[in-house]
Amino acid sequence: MAHHEGNDMSKSVDDRPDWDTYFMDIAHVVSRRGNCRRRKVAAIVVADRRIVSTGYNGTPRGVRNCCEGGCERCASDVPSGSDLSSCICCHAEENAITQAAYHGIRLKGATIYVTISPCLTCAKMIINAGIVEVVYGGDYAFNEQTRKLLAEAGVACRTYVPGPLARESAVAAEACCQTGAPAAKPGKPA
Ligand SMILES: [Zn+2]
Ligand SMILES: [Zn+2]
Repeated sequence: MAHHEGNDMSKSVDDRPDWDTYFMDIAHVVSRRGNCRRRKVAAIVVADRRIVSTGYNGTPRGVRNCCEGGCERCASDVPSGSDLSSCICCHAEENAITQAAYHGIRLKGATIYVTISPCLTCAKMIINAGIVEVVYGGDYAFNEQTRKLLAEAGVACRTYVPGPLARESAVAAEACCQTGAPAAKPGKPA
């Protein structure tokens, strides 16, 4: 039969990851560059399904890395979530936004993918950078105030839900999130 090939094609499955999984997987790869001894986080800013900026957490440009003792707060034994005001590590969202500024890229109307939910300060930057959507992996003390602020400013916010084809990726991401970060338990702030 001449139509064999066509029939085979109709049985083929699109086994590509959905867009959310595609960007979240990339975010997890980026997080491996995170230079904070407390936790590794990454953010990807996407406009028209193109990555326009990326960021991972760590000390500012030109400053000794957190993993080499650059951040006294992170190197100390203060409990997770405390003394955050003396932490000199930049958050992943902060770095994704400032990297865009550094290269003169506008983020108006973009979506930001973050491996964990944003803090209040990053939420403020997300709003004023003109980002209109936040997709986050795990919950990082995603408090009511931050959630409300994003909602009031009209920034859509949703948890990343892996598609049916994303199971393997999700397992890989989980494994990578748990490496090297003593404070990486879900829900525990850095
Ligand atoms: Zn740090
Ligand atoms: Zn933050």
